[in-house]
Amino acid sequence: SKKIIIVGGVAGGSTAAARLRRLDEEAEIILLEKGAYISFANCGLPYYIGETIQDRNKLLVQTAEGMSARYNMHVRTSSEVTAIDRTAKSITVKNLDTGEIYQESYDDLILSPGARPVVPPIQGVKDAEALFTLRNIPDTDRIKDYIDNHHPKHAVVVGGGFIGLEMAENLTERGLDVTIIEMSSQVMGPIDYEMASIIHSHLTDKGVQLILNDGVQAFENNGSKVVTSNGLEIDTDMILLSIGVRPENELAKNAGLSIGDRGGIQVNSQLETSDPHIYAIGDAIEVNDYTNRQPAMVPLAWPANRQGRITADNIYGKTTTYKGTLGTSIAKVFDYTVAATGNNEKTLKQLDIPYEVVHVHPSSHAGYYPGAESIALKLIFDKETGSIYGAQAIGKVGADKRIDVIATAMKGRMTVMDLPDLELAYAPPYSSAKDPVNMAGYTASNIVEGMTQTVQWYEIDAMIANGGTLVDVRDPHELEQGFIDGAVNIPLNDLRSRLTELPVSEVIYVNCQAGLRGYIAARILQENGFHAINLDGGWNTYAAAY
Ligand code: FAD
Repeated sequence: SKKIIIVGGVAGGSTAAARLRRLDEEAEIILLEKGAYISFANCGLPYYIGETIQDRNKLLVQTAEGMSARYNMHVRTSSEVTAIDRTAKSITVKNLDTGEIYQESYDDLILSPGARPVVPPIQGVKDAEALFTLRNIPDTDRIKDYIDNHHPKHAVVVGGGFIGLEMAENLTERGLDVTIIEMSSQVMGPIDYEMASIIHSHLTDKGVQLILNDGVQAFENNGSKVVTSNGLEIDTDMILLSIGVRPENELAKNAGLSIGDRGGIQVNSQLETSDPHIYAIGDAIEVNDYTNRQPAMVPLAWPANRQGRITADNIYGKTTTYKGTLGTSIAKVFDYTVAATGNNEKTLKQLDIPYEVVHVHPSSHAGYYPGAESIALKLIFDKETGSIYGAQAIGKVGADKRIDVIATAMKGRMTVMDLPDLELAYAPPYSSAKDPVNMAGYTASNIVEGMTQTVQWYEIDAMIANGGTLVDVRDPHELEQGFIDGAVNIPLNDLRSRLTELPVSEVIYVNCQAGLRGYIAARILQENGFHAINLDGGWNTYAAAY
């Protein structure tokens, strides 16, 4: 029977181990984890700090004893693998409790060592006393103990990614005033700027101070003052560094396994490294982006779990391939859900892939049933083929399932023309007879089929400045919340009777609140011989971004 060693006992590692045992009762399985805990709920850590999850034990999904007993395997915590001898097919293990060092041979080795938070060499970082990163249970205990015992009033969160935003919310829940410092122009990298803008105003509404386009220059006075590159000085009681993670690749690198440009361990579609007896999974590996097929690092729990299972299958002889990572992700930011899948505009631009975008703002469910909330839903696609590149959704209700449906469609290689045909569950408390995903599909199909032309929120101002006519087809009272400079107001219902007011020789831009009435107006204008272009997403998308 085979002897299989797994390095790293959390998301990827314990999934691989359990699957291996289910496939093969005979194999000898050894799971080595350098920390004190295996199989804990990384993703739940911020919510324990915020006390939404109150019982610490609930974070410990499985214990070393429980796992050993149920799966008849050797689970060793406090056991760091320090070297791999590929020729001898053996590893060196250090028992961190006793200092003992020993060798262990393997037939197959699985690396799931994860990633570690990036701590840049910022001036004063070493002397900062209440400076934290969050990756595991000891990190969590440190942060929670500090809050419980020192009662900090203010926190600086450096980095506005998922963990930074989740922690900003949870620290706010604990009564702290929070300042987020983010170097780029937006939080939440996976979504685009105009979508992130919705979150920017929500964070501000919730009392979070958001500093964009700025970075930390220095931590002064043992970390009680944060100085930014733009010269701001922020007094604080604690600092959370959440600027991203770096793959744990030293073991693989020292063993001569191939490593990609981004530092991820390289694997083939069977998740084998450059050594056929060594597999690697999870945050530590470089994957192929499912949409654009380029190498990518996607440190998320679904890939780690999926890859763990696939690796076990392959070692057992049941050949299974990993098809690439779509990067479907979601986070709760106070009252909002932010979700995304596939590629965003930023990525497609970088890769020089032409794309088209639609923004729609449908209700989460029938407007006449209580509790309906608008969803900002963005779909990115190929204008020629309708192939879906990505989607983003933000809303208080129902954003999650729309992204999950589109992620499913993407894995099924559906196009935007297939989305109107998705027959989704409907009753008034849950959706509409035309679900938001159907609506996004209709809107995008109209563009692919040449029924309508659109202009984006960042293009319209220049078009008007160049002499274009913009007709705002909303009702006059709607303009009270704001309108685009230079627009003339002709409510949609009056448009047919007021066509003579519009120049036939020029392009007419139209906008409404969410894009739908603008589309109707554009159709009326086109049928009457005008060249009409609709502002995609209407005032909602435009106003969010500015
Ligand atoms: P890990 O789960 O980190 O496991 C790696 C383990 O390997 C570690 O315990 C480490 O101690 C051990 N190890 C490393 N080197 C050695 C060695 N040489 N010898 C022995 N052991 C070693 N993802 C989502 O999809 N959704 C979320 O909501 C989400 N929230 C998150 C919130 C937080 C606070 C964090 C930290 C992560 C979150 N993630 C989330 C990411 C997700 O947890 C990771 O993608 C996932 O855990 C990766 O699995 P992994 O097996 O690669 O690494």
